[in-house]
Amino acid sequence: MESVKISPYTIPGEMAEMKACSLFMNSGKHHFLFNPEFGTSILLDGVHTDQILSGAPGDDLQFKLIQRGFMEVPGSNSCISGESIMPSFFIIDLTQACNFRCAYCFRHLNQKSTTISDHNLEAIVGYISDHCLRNNLTDVNVQPWGGEPLLAWKKIIRMHDLFLEKGLRPIFVIESNAGLITKEIAAEAFSRDIRIGVSIDGPPDLHNSQRKLASGRPSFEKMYEGMQNLRNAGFGQRHGVITVLTRNGYPYVEEILEYFAVELSIDRLRLNVVKDSPMMKDKNLCLTEDEITDFNLRLVKKLIELNRRGYPITEINVMDKLNNLLTRKRVNICNSRGCMGGKKMVAFDQDGRIFPCDITDYKEEAVGSVFDGKNLIEMLEQAHLQNQFFRPKQDPDCSGCDWAFFCKGGCTNAILYKKGEISGIDRQECITNKTLYPALIQMIIHEPEILKTMTKNQIEIV
Ligand code: SF4
Ligand code: SF4
Repeated sequence: MESVKISPYTIPGEMAEMKACSLFMNSGKHHFLFNPEFGTSILLDGVHTDQILSGAPGDDLQFKLIQRGFMEVPGSNSCISGESIMPSFFIIDLTQACNFRCAYCFRHLNQKSTTISDHNLEAIVGYISDHCLRNNLTDVNVQPWGGEPLLAWKKIIRMHDLFLEKGLRPIFVIESNAGLITKEIAAEAFSRDIRIGVSIDGPPDLHNSQRKLASGRPSFEKMYEGMQNLRNAGFGQRHGVITVLTRNGYPYVEEILEYFAVELSIDRLRLNVVKDSPMMKDKNLCLTEDEITDFNLRLVKKLIELNRRGYPITEINVMDKLNNLLTRKRVNICNSRGCMGGKKMVAFDQDGRIFPCDITDYKEEAVGSVFDGKNLIEMLEQAHLQNQFFRPKQDPDCSGCDWAFFCKGGCTNAILYKKGEISGIDRQECITNKTLYPALIQMIIHEPEILKTMTKNQIEIV
C-alpha cells in the first residue's frame, strides 16, 4: 500500500484551506484519506482521490472535508480534540492473593496475600459515589482487581450492593482465571449482570504451559469448568476472553484463534502481547520487535480468514483501532486517544490511595487518598501539573507520525513497568500501531464486508 503525504494547500477562489493529511492508496476502488491532527477519515473513490491530488476538491467533497476537520474555514469553529478530566472507570485492588501462578505474572504473589478491609472498601465506595453523584454520572464502571478478584467475591457483592444503595448503576467487569467460578458464583454474577472475562491462553497444552495452579498442576480443566458454569448460568458465549501471547504462543497464533473460534465458539477476545517488566521472572517470554510486527500481521490475516469461513470472531484491540480509524468514537476507556489514566480512569489500592492506573505497586505514583478530604477532580488537576505520570511521552519519530493522535506515545504503565521510570515511549504499542493501522486500512479498502462482524455490528460500510 502506498502512503502519500498531502501538504497543506489553498484552493483557488475558496476561503477554506486544506490541511496536511495522508492518503493511503491501493489497487482497490477506494482510497483512505486520514487526518492525523484529529484522527478523522474519509473513504474516497477514484474521482475524489484525483480531486484531492490535483488540489481541486469539488463542492460536495469540500463539505465533507470541512465537517471532518481536513479543511478549515477562517473564523469557524475547528474540530476539538482535547480530553477533559472526568474519571468514570474505577479499578479497585481487592486482593493480592491468587490461586494461580502464571509464568508471566509480575506481582510477587508469594510475598503478598493481603485482602482489602471492609472499612477501606466502604470508604472507597463512598468516595467514588460522591464523585459520581456530584458530576451526574449515574453509571459507575468498576473493575474489581487482584490477584484473583474472585477470591474476594463476598467483597465484590458487598460493593455492588453499596453502589445500588447510593442510587448508582454499578457496571462491574472482572478479569478472572475462572478457577473459582462455581455454579453459584456464575448464577449470582448473571443475576447482577456482573461481566466476567476469562483468561485462556490457547488450546490445553499451551494454556497449561504458562498458566498453572498454585499447586503447580495444570489449570486448563479448572478454567474450562468455570467457563462452562458461566455459559450455563445464562451468559452463553457472551463472556469476555483475555489471552496473553508470549514467545511460547507466538508460533501458534493461527492455532490459538482457530481453537477459540471453532472449538470454543468464542466470538471476541483480547489478545495482549506480554508486557516486558524486570519483575517478570522469565525474560524469554517477551517477543522481539520483529515478532510483534509479524504477530499483528498474522492476527489480522487469520481473523479475516475465519470471518470469511463464517466464524464471526474479532479481537478487541483490532476492533478498537477500526473504530478509531472510522468513527473516532472513544470506545476504549484506557487508550483510545493516548493514555486515559488519571483522566477517564483511576485505581485504588487496598489502603485507599488513588493512582492514575493500576500501578498500585508504585506507591510514589499515588495522586492522593480517599482519606485526604479532597475531591477527585481537583486532586487529579493538581497531579497533572506535578506527577511524572502525566508528562507527554515523546520520541523523535512521533512528530509527523500518522498515528500520534491515537497513540500519544503508548501506555504509561507499560513504560513504568519496563524502565522503572516514565521516559520515552512504549515501544511495543508503537510497533503495534505502525503495523496494525496500515493493515486495517488495507482491510477497510479490500474487505469492507467483513467490518460488520469484526466490529460486532458497530460499523458497516454500505
Ligand atoms: S497507563 Fe496504560 S493501561 Fe493505564 S490507562 Fe494509560 S494506556 Fe491504559
Ligand atoms: S510512539 Fe510510535 S506510533 Fe506512537 S506516535 Fe510515536 S512514533 Fe507514532
